[in-house]
Amino acid sequence: MKDMRKILNFILAGTAVAGLAADRPIGVIGGDPLARLGVRQDQLREIPANASVRFVKKTQYLNNSRAVITHTMDDSEKLVLQAVDLMDKYGIKATLFVSTGTGDIQQMWPRLRKAIAGGHELGSHSRTHQCSWPDTAEFCAKAFSDSEVTGSRDDILKNTSQPYVWAWCYPCGLCAANQAVHEKLARAGYLVARNYPDEPHDGHVIPNLQTYAGDLYNAAYTQVVQKIGGIAKHGNTDVAQLNAKFDEVYKAGGVYSFMSHAQWLDFGPNDFYQRHLAYLGGRRDVWYVPMGLLYAYKTVLDRTEVRALDTPPGTARFAIFNDLDPKIYRNSITLQFTVPAKARVLAGGKPLPERQTGLTDRWSDEYYRRENDTVYVTVRPNTILEFR
Ligand SMILES: [Zn+2]
Repeated sequence: MKDMRKILNFILAGTAVAGLAADRPIGVIGGDPLARLGVRQDQLREIPANASVRFVKKTQYLNNSRAVITHTMDDSEKLVLQAVDLMDKYGIKATLFVSTGTGDIQQMWPRLRKAIAGGHELGSHSRTHQCSWPDTAEFCAKAFSDSEVTGSRDDILKNTSQPYVWAWCYPCGLCAANQAVHEKLARAGYLVARNYPDEPHDGHVIPNLQTYAGDLYNAAYTQVVQKIGGIAKHGNTDVAQLNAKFDEVYKAGGVYSFMSHAQWLDFGPNDFYQRHLAYLGGRRDVWYVPMGLLYAYKTVLDRTEVRALDTPPGTARFAIFNDLDPKIYRNSITLQFTVPAKARVLAGGKPLPERQTGLTDRWSDEYYRRENDTVYVTVRPNTILEFR
């Protein structure tokens, strides 16, 4: 009997964590999201009272962008700060994966805090960056201790104003296929974990992922942008080839995700890193976003519902709601409406600003944009949207 209970606990624990990673993401909260908005089920309508305002769809990417650019940079190296200056020059947004107990981290915190304010994200790259090949189960158990997994997360929270740590990066790409490690990362609240696949055989150079990863805890990227380093045999520094790979992803409307180590870059206007950033920057039909927030966005997009509400004549109201913890999921999403007459747009009773131009390089701003009869409303869910 005792054994039975043990087995059952094991199965339940396994189901809960597997569920976290699959159809039930981290941060789903109980209760009725409509009730939290003060809306009753019987107030929902298929068609709004003002039927000329029509909800069309949630756009695939923020602000109806055509494609996504996300950048990641690994390690606690002072040179990261020089790279961030360049990213800022070209408007590229990155996840900076830092090891919080090693390297130059103590000197880096002030600039990293500024980077967060500028729209970048800090992710965890453990505390002490342990690497040892091959990545046996014994090694993974030791290298993914509580100190490394939750300690590094808490170091980031303590040293910055970032409210949550969404993303993990495997030191040397090790243990990225270890299920026990996946479960540990999920329990620590990480939404996504980036890999560095098969460095001994240069598998990490162009993993060629051009969309979201299927396995959130073994998430690849499109290509590296860096010289030879570590145990690799090749780098990836030919600017024409780097740019052509981006073009391929962009044409398909995908996610261009590139990663670098600052210590394997050259810094100068004619060097490959800056020239590639210059090629990527300044595009009005691209969304620039750090990796963790991109994956958080995907979950918000998938789980948010839009329903029309009863309204007085001449107005249209919609409930925008999901079952996600707003402390983790702070993302805006973009909703496409058909709105023939000029109307003010309000969220939660407050007018949204109109923003016709500019880059899409933030993930929690709220605004709307009109293109003829189409209005794109970028808004944080769990609110009532109103057209007046
Ligand atoms: Zn590293």
